[in-house]
Amino acid sequence: MKILVTGGNGLVGNSIKNIINNYDSHEFVFLKRDDCELTNRENVLKYFENNKFDCIIHLAAHVGGLFMNMNSNIDMFSKNIKINENILEACHKNNIKKGIFCLSSCIYPCNPSKFPMDETMIHESPPHYSNEGYAYSKRMLELQCRQYNNKYNTQYICVIPVNLYGPYDNFNIENGHVIPSILHRFHMEKISKNENYFAYGTGNPYRQFLYAPDFARIICNLLLDNIYTKNEPIICCNDEITIKEMTSTLLEVMRIDNNLLKWNTNKSDGCLKKTVTNEKLLKYYPDFEFTSLKNGLTETYNWFCNNQSIVRK
Ligand code: GDP
Repeated sequence: MKILVTGGNGLVGNSIKNIINNYDSHEFVFLKRDDCELTNRENVLKYFENNKFDCIIHLAAHVGGLFMNMNSNIDMFSKNIKINENILEACHKNNIKKGIFCLSSCIYPCNPSKFPMDETMIHESPPHYSNEGYAYSKRMLELQCRQYNNKYNTQYICVIPVNLYGPYDNFNIENGHVIPSILHRFHMEKISKNENYFAYGTGNPYRQFLYAPDFARIICNLLLDNIYTKNEPIICCNDEITIKEMTSTLLEVMRIDNNLLKWNTNKSDGCLKKTVTNEKLLKYYPDFEFTSLKNGLTETYNWFCNNQSIVRK
């Protein structure tokens, strides 16, 4: 099969690149930002017509951490709606029957009726106000996939990862997600010997973190091994910890004294808790082995130090 991976040069796209030798009967095409402007309908339709794909892994999106979301809700909504609309139209017109479409657990309700949340609760009530642009655009992607599945019998599977991290992440200090942005900031403090280590908020919010290479394995399994034959959304997550616990583990990995860390409580905590369950995933893949946070952070920090020339920041 010829498989298109949009967002092919991002955190998850690169993680998929590293495992495609396990799937050598398939051809993977990794779409980079400059190859095709996905917000442009004509470009997208032409690109699909010129390259006949059998299925798709749709990862490309306008994304960022809490602070980028708070500053650009309009862009987050508008760009992602356009991208997803174009991609789905192109899939439909080119008879692509199977695909993986990436959502995120941060689109879930902020005050749900129960924890942990499952796949049925995406639309139950509003998301946190800080990222409502991104959240509603991705909720619409779930709706669109469901409608295509119902009407055209496609197998468009929405995958719902929690906070992803790993090599090839966006390490931008202002716009990145929590792990890459504090890792980068702490690294700068460490090498400059200022040792002024700050994290944002109180550290009390809970989050689940998933190592991007683990998510890449899940995506390829769902698409290619025919164990999951449904076309319904599936959550991909790992254990829940506080931001404070995650930060302590990161400091340990970076060999920085935990006592030097201070919290800037003038900055937002974002949503306090958005726990989701991987019960459904484990029903299909009971033996799936997740990378521990400590090992994932160690790999990520080593990659960051050894690949400074290509790090996005
Ligand atoms: P979210 O999980 O979608 O809210 O996005 P993030 O990955 O940006 O995580 C945000 C959480 O980490 C919030 O509780 C922030 O207060 C906390 N946090 C602590 N330090 C930082 C930082 O330097 N950058 C970011 N993005 N978040 C931080």
